[in-house]
Amino acid sequence: MRKRGKTENKKKLRRQARAKAFAEGTTSAQTAPTATDEPEPIRFCMMAKPIGPACNLRCHYCFYLEKDALLEPGDHRMSEEVLEAYVRKYIASQLAGGTVEFHWQGGEPTLIGLDFYRKAVEFQRRYANGKRFTNTIQTNGTLLDEEWCNFLAKGKWMVGLSLDGPKDVHDTYRLDTRGEGSFDGVMRGLEVLKRHRVEFNVLASVTPASTARPLEVYDFFKEAGVKFVQFMPIVERLPDRAAEELGLQLAVGVRSGEAVQTVRMTPWSVETEAYGEFLCRIFDEWVRNDVGSFAVMNFEWALANYMGRPAGVCQWMPKCGRSPIIEYNGDVYACDHYMYPEYRLGNVLTDDLQEMMESPKQCRFGEAKLDALPKYCRQCPVGPACWGECPKRRFCHTPDGEAGLNYLCAGYRRFFEHAAPHFHVMAKLVQAGQPASKIMESEIMVIPQASPAGRGIPFHENEDRVSEGR
Ligand code: SF4
Ligand code: SF4
Repeated sequence: MRKRGKTENKKKLRRQARAKAFAEGTTSAQTAPTATDEPEPIRFCMMAKPIGPACNLRCHYCFYLEKDALLEPGDHRMSEEVLEAYVRKYIASQLAGGTVEFHWQGGEPTLIGLDFYRKAVEFQRRYANGKRFTNTIQTNGTLLDEEWCNFLAKGKWMVGLSLDGPKDVHDTYRLDTRGEGSFDGVMRGLEVLKRHRVEFNVLASVTPASTARPLEVYDFFKEAGVKFVQFMPIVERLPDRAAEELGLQLAVGVRSGEAVQTVRMTPWSVETEAYGEFLCRIFDEWVRNDVGSFAVMNFEWALANYMGRPAGVCQWMPKCGRSPIIEYNGDVYACDHYMYPEYRLGNVLTDDLQEMMESPKQCRFGEAKLDALPKYCRQCPVGPACWGECPKRRFCHTPDGEAGLNYLCAGYRRFFEHAAPHFHVMAKLVQAGQPASKIMESEIMVIPQASPAGRGIPFHENEDRVSEGR
């Protein structure tokens, strides 16, 4: 009993330290609000681009297709030499006893063909050195067939399928090289996955076509037999000067502390309030009917943050720097969203992965997310859920004129404040050893009232407020 009291006290102190660190912008390892003091199972999680940005589709909103302009001309296929060096060094860089997670992405990573992945698995077995490994592949699904799905099922691969919702929603922006919708091809891929019992989840890009119809999008996924979905808001600006100099069509990701004067959005970008409303409408449906049976990853991550656990997604974590990418030629970059020459860290053929991750360049990139948070965010009631979100989208100004506010701010505030009272109930259930899904029982669905200021419960369990010390 006494021990439990001590543990609770320690937890309380840690929560207070995290909240204080957030409000003050402290970045020391002891007090930085990493949401947990448990040792992390892996130190970084790399994403590989075996075929560069090459893709058989031409989705309007894709931010990676145009990265072709930054690569050497010619064929962008990962060679066996690069593949072997990558697998060997990546496994060696991960903690002993942990699971090494391989993520394959593109472009469209199936374009490189199955033999490439057979070879990758051969190398993984050769260099495993007692470590376990898993593979996930993010695909548009249009090239999946029996042979692919046999391979994926046998190796227990996890597939991320890019699907935006019903046909007209999906086909608004996800077109093929002839300008025709890709929905039918993706659904064929989904059916083969299901037939072969391959584990899959859906990555749904959210555009103005989907924010107009949140519940239709949600119901579509449930009816299609999807069990896990992640919503990804599309936010892209028209090219700025930096992009034009690099020969790109989309604005370059914001650098830490940069003040963007003119913001011109692409037509396929969501509006911030509409995105917040989209999440709220789906959340209301989910929390009443589907907790525990249908996973909306955005809600799972937000609940984890509410409970002071790691969110599981970099956007809602305090720092960046743990999600590098490796391009087809072995070049390593800070992040998928910062694949620009100034964020190149080295090459896997000649450099050590661990050293690249610990380099001053990558450390600065990682720390900048927290360091550059505007005061408005530090005083925000939902700060420990949002963390100012992805720096790439911090191109707006706060109401008092400070640069560095996230474009999605209003939408996130709306969503987190809306969901917080429900998360409060779910957290209490989990702490009492009950499943969070019990919230769906009508007598439990009595949620704490919003404060007179209309802010609901601050986005952290119990007594912690990010505004502490204000
Ligand atoms: S820049 Fe954005 S996508 Fe990249 S690690 Fe940071 S939060 Fe994640
Ligand atoms: S909701 Fe807005 S103010 Fe709050 S942390 Fe996120 S971006 Fe900053």
